[in-house]
Amino acid sequence: MNISRYKQLLIEMEGRLWTRKARDVKSGREQLIDTAADAGDASVADEAESEDFTEAELDATILQQVQDALQRIENGTYGQCLIDGGPISPKRLDAVPWTPYCIRHQKLLEAASGPTPTL
Ligand SMILES: [Zn+2]
Repeated sequence: MNISRYKQLLIEMEGRLWTRKARDVKSGREQLIDTAADAGDASVADEAESEDFTEAELDATILQQVQDALQRIENGTYGQCLIDGGPISPKRLDAVPWTPYCIRHQKLLEAASGPTPTL
């Protein structure tokens, strides 16, 4: 397994998520100001605003997983399932390099708690 390639992918992903997070928070604030200035249809503005924050929250979840994955690279445990320590298939790591679980446990967790956010 080419760890340095995954590390590169994860570092790029981390940077992209940071940029997006900063932008989302900013646009959320701007909408808040717009709402205050224009006392028109407040409910529409509220909806748009909450959508922004939901997206930001989703990004924050993935950002946390990306950072955890980078930590596992440092620890030398990258590519091992958090639950059983078994190998995560390279195909799966190519698709979702920050995943902490093998496909079997990911499916078990999704079945238990509903779908988890992916990009
Ligand atoms: Zn597993």
